[in-house]
Amino acid sequence: MAIEYDAAQPTGSAEDALAAVAADLPGVLITDPGELRRRSKDRSAMISPFLAAELEGRRAGAVALPTTEAEVVAVVGSCARHGVPIVPRGAGTGTFGQAVPMAGGVVIDLSRLTGVLWHDDGAVRVRAGTLLADIDATLAGSGGELRMFPSSRRTATAAGFVVGGHGGIGSIRHGVLGDRGNLLGLRLITVETPPQILELRGDQADLIQFSMGTAGIVVEVEFPLTRARAWRDMIFSFPSLDQGVEFAHQLTLADGLDVKNAMPCDARSASYFTPLAAYLPEGNAAVLCMVAPHATERVTELAAEWGGAPTLDVATGQGPRGLPLYEYTWGHSIWWIRKEEKDLAVVLSLLPVEQPGKALRTLLDTVGEPVWVSIPCQRIAGRPGLQIGLGVDASVPGRVQEVTDAAEQAGCLVADIHRPFLGEGSIRRIDERREVMRNRVDPQGLCNPGRIDRPAAGPATPLPGAPTSGPTTPGATHGWSERFDKRSASK
Ligand SMILES: Cc1cc2nc3c(=O)[nH]c(=O)nc-3n(C[C@H](O)[C@H](O)[C@H](O)COP(=O)(O)OP(=O)(O)OC[C@H]3O[C@@H](n4cnc5c(N)ncnc54)[C@H](O)[C@@H]3O)c2cc1C
Repeated sequence: MAIEYDAAQPTGSAEDALAAVAADLPGVLITDPGELRRRSKDRSAMISPFLAAELEGRRAGAVALPTTEAEVVAVVGSCARHGVPIVPRGAGTGTFGQAVPMAGGVVIDLSRLTGVLWHDDGAVRVRAGTLLADIDATLAGSGGELRMFPSSRRTATAAGFVVGGHGGIGSIRHGVLGDRGNLLGLRLITVETPPQILELRGDQADLIQFSMGTAGIVVEVEFPLTRARAWRDMIFSFPSLDQGVEFAHQLTLADGLDVKNAMPCDARSASYFTPLAAYLPEGNAAVLCMVAPHATERVTELAAEWGGAPTLDVATGQGPRGLPLYEYTWGHSIWWIRKEEKDLAVVLSLLPVEQPGKALRTLLDTVGEPVWVSIPCQRIAGRPGLQIGLGVDASVPGRVQEVTDAAEQAGCLVADIHRPFLGEGSIRRIDERREVMRNRVDPQGLCNPGRIDRPAAGPATPLPGAPTSGPTTPGATHGWSERFDKRSASK
């Protein structure tokens, strides 16, 4: 099934245009087939076999690996002049097909544009390709650390997180990346001839967050910091998932408790975290946490109120195999399960703010077995947003749709993560302000084309087994977290 995506219309053929860029930049573009394959992929298969099938075989025509801002400007300028699509890329750990070229063109891989530029007691400024783990390593001893990072921290880049990420470890206290104040500013190269270099601050910078590479090339990012702690990895074991979820919900609300992460999971999911087996009593649910040393006592007390007890308490990264506990949470919880369950697809949703445990129970009772449940806890615009990654057996026809519908019926807000587009029902919708910004920084529509809403023609036939309709939230005109915010505020 071929899907046609709107690409920019170069003059002449796409091959001629790419050849013109290559002629402008001798020795810069890489066309080795192995490199093209490697740098045209992301990690979508982890959450959606449908997305993986749809993206299979999509390739860039060339790759550029700039190490300086001037090199980025040169590549962008030439692509803009010849009408060649551009796909910015960090480490390629994104899971929504975001860094996969839908219309060929040049992948600009920013992973070699690295370095911490400066930091003080409140902020840090880095080059785009700096790994998130390297930022915190540089900050070590300064008293500051990043407010939040994805569980892919060791491999993900700063700009990749800002442009393609949502939130993660730290979001239980600081909210998500899109929340006001969690991104201070960024330096952006526009896709025009000649490219402009913009410093976007505050609200303007927020318009680039989660734009899936469709709004210029980020070369520097400025993050706010929080106070560093000697975090402890703690596992709490609970007789039932419901008890674990109630504990995690209370922990999300309890601002006085200094925690950086909490994720309840059911006994089935826990059984896939094999290195942790000794700390996960069989048949029990678990909540995986990151807790400040001074808070362990009170967090343990709260767990006991809900029937839970600690089974592990070590310095972060000192647990089995030296893996930090956060590498079993957020996206990583799915990664461990997906290693064994090749047909797994994820139905991703937010539980309602009020009585999330009750909605979860209704949902699980409706969908029956088997499902794999993990629930990273976060705040979204100050409200508790317990996010369920519900693993589903996608080889059963109609199962993903059935679970999607049940989640909406139970009051959850489902994000459509099985199509590689921003738009209705997806994590983020491109609203008018974002559209204005996109037009300003990419007037020819060359930046990661094929990402905004469905392509005009739309997928001709749904992929076998794929959900046939997206989430059905009435009047959904915003992205996932904005819709969550609106729905919660109206309660
Ligand atoms: C195991 C696993 C766990 C994960 N856990 C989380 C999690 O906890 N939270 C979360 O939010 N995500 C998570 N993710 C998704 C992903 O890892 C993160 O969002 C990560 O921050 C992406 O960084 P990256 O460098 O790999 O970006 P990429 O995947 O390379 O790119 C992501 C998007 O940003 C764009 N982009 C990249 N660099 C630039 C640039 N310099 N300028 C403009 N656009 C750019 C790309 O075009 C793409 O659209 C996880 C993924 C995996 C595989």
